[in-house]
Amino acid sequence: MSGQRNVPFLDLVTPHLQLEEELVAGFRECLRSAHFVGGAAVEQFEREFAAYCQTAFCVGVSSGTDAVRFALMAAGVEPGDAVITVPNTFIATTEAITQAGALPLFVEIDERTYNLDPQHLRRFVESECTLDSARKLIHKKSNRRVTAVVPVHLYGQTADMDPILELAEECGLRVIEDSCQAHGAGYHSGRQRKWRKAGSMGQAGAFSFYPGKNLGACGEGGAVTTNDERIAARVRMLRDHGQSRKYYHDLEGYNGRLDTIQATILLAKLKHVEGWNLKRRAAAEYYARLLRDAELTLPQAPGWVQPVYHLYVVRAPRRDALQAELAAAGVGTGIHYPIPLHLQKAYAHLGHKAGDFPASERVAQEILSLPMYPQLTPADQSYVAARLTEGVAATLEPAALDAATAAPASRR
Ligand SMILES: *Cc1c(COP(=O)(O)O)cnc(C)c1O
Repeated sequence: MSGQRNVPFLDLVTPHLQLEEELVAGFRECLRSAHFVGGAAVEQFEREFAAYCQTAFCVGVSSGTDAVRFALMAAGVEPGDAVITVPNTFIATTEAITQAGALPLFVEIDERTYNLDPQHLRRFVESECTLDSARKLIHKKSNRRVTAVVPVHLYGQTADMDPILELAEECGLRVIEDSCQAHGAGYHSGRQRKWRKAGSMGQAGAFSFYPGKNLGACGEGGAVTTNDERIAARVRMLRDHGQSRKYYHDLEGYNGRLDTIQATILLAKLKHVEGWNLKRRAAAEYYARLLRDAELTLPQAPGWVQPVYHLYVVRAPRRDALQAELAAAGVGTGIHYPIPLHLQKAYAHLGHKAGDFPASERVAQEILSLPMYPQLTPADQSYVAARLTEGVAATLEPAALDAATAAPASRR
């Protein structure tokens, strides 16, 4: 057997070393011009990112969380409303809904793609909601107006948007795409007979530039993409204290801008995203080949999606034991996410219980995110696959079963 290797879950050092000159030059420019908030770099990044996402507008904001919140507010979600999303996402999605003054409502996922299931969405709207006299959709149990749905393009793969958009049009729901894990991902719309980009299909898309995302800043950042000029204008006001011009406040907003230093860094890195996404896709294909005989569920990409593999997530029955074995062999992994939102302490007040969303709950027990980044080498991947295959075989042996159940569940 070859010696021990170290394969981290994520490598944020190498890409920045490769671009160091350019990144430092951008920073130097900010120092010399004393442009730290707003300015030409932010506007240029907004233009280029809008072009990349194939939308008319992009508004830079301070994080993905603010991007979801501002997009919801700008699209017309009001305090007291309810907004639909999935239970298996990062809590930022529902935090943004709550911060917009709305109540998060959960709808089950499709267990094969881990994304919002359009059939469950329809069932939810038909059985748990009703139309009031003004033909507005009302959630019966909470008696609130349901005004938006937030499909999350999890792991870099878009949700099945055609039926979601169709249903949303039928019941007057705004659609805000949480694209924080899906920069550049594609969806083939059967209705329109063309490929669309994540963040360009609903009324607005929300992106995060947190360092580990497919396009990451060297700090915090986010963006709202939209084809609706009024939504873009409202997000511009919301991110900047509700100003239409300096010290003229049309409404109360937030301090939620993208700063200039991050914009220069994002401009430099945006040129590489497409190439990086191709490398992620190639790495995913190689994993699939290496792992085809392992007792694991591999990611499934329907023909209508062009995934960008923000994460490469497999499912394994004795996941926690497997993760511990991989860690001992020098392989970093993650779990995205170990506890579905409806079972989090933070949402105890929503009154959900185990069993409410069985697919999301099953998935949470078994998912494991393998190392995935553009700089991952085939040799690293072979090592990961070999340790994973051994680990799966070991955890399936009867002797290992007791050890696995006795081991404390590892949580990040
Ligand atoms: C990262 C992420 C967010 C939040 O982005 P921040 O920039 O960290 O605020 C929201 N939703 C999803 C699905 C994410 O992965």
